[in-house]
Amino acid sequence: MNPRLSDLVSASRVVSIPLRTKFRGITERELLVFEGPNGFSEWAAFTEYSDEEAATWLAAAIEWGHNDLPAPKRNSVPVNAILPAVTLADISKILTRAGKFTTVKIKTAEKGQSVSDDLARILEVQNLYPEAKIRLDANGGFNISQAMELLEKLSFEGIELEYFEQPVATIADLSEMKIEIAKTGQTTLIAADESVRKSSDPLAVELAGAADILVLKSAPLGGIANALQIAASSKLPIVPSSAMQSSIGLSAELHFAACLDELVFDAGLGTMNLFAGDLVTDSLKPVDGVLEVRRPEVATSALDTLKAEDHRYDWWIARLQRCGRLIGLEA
Ligand SMILES: [Mg+2]
Repeated sequence: MNPRLSDLVSASRVVSIPLRTKFRGITERELLVFEGPNGFSEWAAFTEYSDEEAATWLAAAIEWGHNDLPAPKRNSVPVNAILPAVTLADISKILTRAGKFTTVKIKTAEKGQSVSDDLARILEVQNLYPEAKIRLDANGGFNISQAMELLEKLSFEGIELEYFEQPVATIADLSEMKIEIAKTGQTTLIAADESVRKSSDPLAVELAGAADILVLKSAPLGGIANALQIAASSKLPIVPSSAMQSSIGLSAELHFAACLDELVFDAGLGTMNLFAGDLVTDSLKPVDGVLEVRRPEVATSALDTLKAEDHRYDWWIARLQRCGRLIGLEA
């Protein structure tokens, strides 16, 4: 059952968790947590998001804290390691921290960097981990010619990608890029992420033939039940992934992954290695490339240590009031 807004407000804590390296341009992950009948849940809509978008994330957080959940079909999920757009010197340090892995996702198209910087980073990973499968994520940051330039250079170096996630921003550009790739005779697979979760119709990208793989995250899709429904309506393989949540929010994404019928690719859930702090006693970090499906115990001391400044708490509570009303919570 949905909580009353006033109960949600009084249960809410706001924290700011430091990241090890800059990610999506941020160095601290700010989010709100509350305890419900199921345990702790997390509302981690990025601060620049509109109320409408943040309200969808709130519905997902309420589902995880308060409502009935579908039963998982497996008790562990294989995950990829993740490499932010760091300098060459930092690559080995970051990937060593990830432990054993079979797949690595490399972030590309970072502001202020060039296609050559991305290429150098990919080559260094290939050099250090010749057996690893490599997938790229540009978060829609390339235009078509930049993305094609990178693919051409990779092909010249003999590097085959597992897939390229959101190389360009729009569904139209993704479609055009698939045509460009076909023209070169390459078979690089394209995954859609932002085009799924930022679209009014999450399956529009599939209808347009603009992607081969869908990256799904339950929080931006309004919860696990919704995300499972979208997965069931799609013919494309699904890669369940996280949205840089703490272990509390990550456990919900992991539960979603565990509920899927089939996992063809390693899930994008190995993100806790990017954090320099967490809210639980035993972080959801992969062991030998695998995450155990569980709901970790929350460390109440961490909620105090990582407590956000008062004015940020006020900002989140005002946002909670607005978004709670948007999804029809009773006062
Ligand atoms: Mg992505």
